[in-house]
Amino acid sequence: MPGKEECDVIILGAGPAGMSAGIYASRGNLDTVILDKTMFGGQPSNYGEIENYPGFPSISGFELAEKFEEHLDKFNVKKHAYVEIKSIDLLSEIKTVKTDNCEFCAKSVIIATGAHPRKLGIKGEQEFIGRGVSYCAVCDAAFYRDKTVCVIGGGNSALEEACYLTKFANRVYLIHRRDEFRADKIVIERAKNNPKIEFVLSAVPVEINGTDKVEALIVKTNSEEIREIKTDGVFPYIGIEPETEHFKTQLQLDKGGFIITDVNMQTSIPGVYAAGDVRTTPLRQVVTAVSDGAVAACYCVKHIDLLKNKVTV
Ligand code: NAP
Repeated sequence: MPGKEECDVIILGAGPAGMSAGIYASRGNLDTVILDKTMFGGQPSNYGEIENYPGFPSISGFELAEKFEEHLDKFNVKKHAYVEIKSIDLLSEIKTVKTDNCEFCAKSVIIATGAHPRKLGIKGEQEFIGRGVSYCAVCDAAFYRDKTVCVIGGGNSALEEACYLTKFANRVYLIHRRDEFRADKIVIERAKNNPKIEFVLSAVPVEINGTDKVEALIVKTNSEEIREIKTDGVFPYIGIEPETEHFKTQLQLDKGGFIITDVNMQTSIPGVYAAGDVRTTPLRQVVTAVSDGAVAACYCVKHIDLLKNKVTV
């Protein structure tokens, strides 16, 4: 028989937004549970260097995530890692999250489930995952020592991870569908000044080829020219998609599927908050995720205080 656990707030996701929300909720005297489908840390655990988180001029994403968790551990938060969610009810007064072993019940939920890498959706991508296709340079770069890799995308992730890969690979092709980048200027300059990076611009990947593992990426240029780039690895960094599978029918979402909140991180359901990359936001950074988590938890504390006062009147 699955168990039952009651608390004030369930936080879904243990990345920067979720862990920050956990610290603030616990300090706000809420009985707090955090669930994550993998280990605590979230997306930064897969980043290389982070150099725009105040107080840490240069720190690896993994180390920063570890520091967040150490900080969280100072508070009385019930942590559950590697928990697979089966179903969620956000609409009832008491919110429930069902997993294999437990039904968690709470007055409030903070959604901080983040986002996952968007797929290219081209031939060979799915087939070669783990055999040359990777979405995590930090995890897999060491396999490409003295080899050639292709990075796809024109945002911060693509350009930063291309630079990171040059620590191992001999040659990094940066393939982007336009000739202008959306990455920050400093990141673009760094990539342009890196002699190991070769830019292939105004080109769209159309196929990944190989036998046992990746051997080539086929791209099509704006002038319809087809080019085969011999490569040992392909790293797509073409943006992110929100993790909203279990609750997307219950909440108001934007066109991209991200959760719409007000300035207090309140979603379309009272008592349900969203924080970090999963919500509609103009900036997706570690610093904005932790800020969202703090705001969400503070307003969650106020919401629960109001509910408790109502009950005692
Ligand atoms: P992003 O900023 O959305 O960039 C995605 C890139 O992929 C764009 O250049 C886009 O091209 C391209 N793209 C999208 N779909 C494509 C397709 N089907 N085929 C080929 N190319 C495609 O995503 P991101 O770089 O993953 O960053 C996500 C968020 O995290 C951003 O807000 C970013 O600033 C933030 N971030 C921050 C840092 C940092 O500050 N240290 C590091 C990493 C990420 P177009 O430009 O033509 O649309």
